[in-house]
Amino acid sequence: MIVYDLVCEQAHRFEAWFGSSRDFDDQQQRGLLECPLCGSTKVGKAVMAPAVPAKSNQQTERQSLANDDPMARLLMLQRAFEAGSDYVGDRFAAEARAIHQAGEARSVHGEATPDEVKALREDGVPLLPLPFRPRARSDA
Ligand SMILES: [Zn+2]
Repeated sequence: MIVYDLVCEQAHRFEAWFGSSRDFDDQQQRGLLECPLCGSTKVGKAVMAPAVPAKSNQQTERQSLANDDPMARLLMLQRAFEAGSDYVGDRFAAEARAIHQAGEARSVHGEATPDEVKALREDGVPLLPLPFRPRARSDA
């Protein structure tokens, strides 16, 4: 898996994960990439800024926690995510659409086929690929 910093036509920046750089190219060409903030599908890779050495020690420590260990960062992200989201397995497409239509604020995660993902995006349901396997399936 690789993560890209993406930016939409309105300069919203966000991160998205892909199986490979080809997956990114493929999804971009098919208009499947969508800004989670404004829904724009005019999305491209953000220009990465060079790392600038931090001046204060405090800032350096905080940055090293977030940047130096991608796995630790990913684990923190996963824990925070799982605490606020229900695992719904292969009912994901139906659940996500129902939540979207009801205007609920809750969050779910699970599996969806590429066709389901495409249909959800066409219906304006906000969704993002996850950078990790749901724990409920880790022993499958
Ligand atoms: Zn946007």
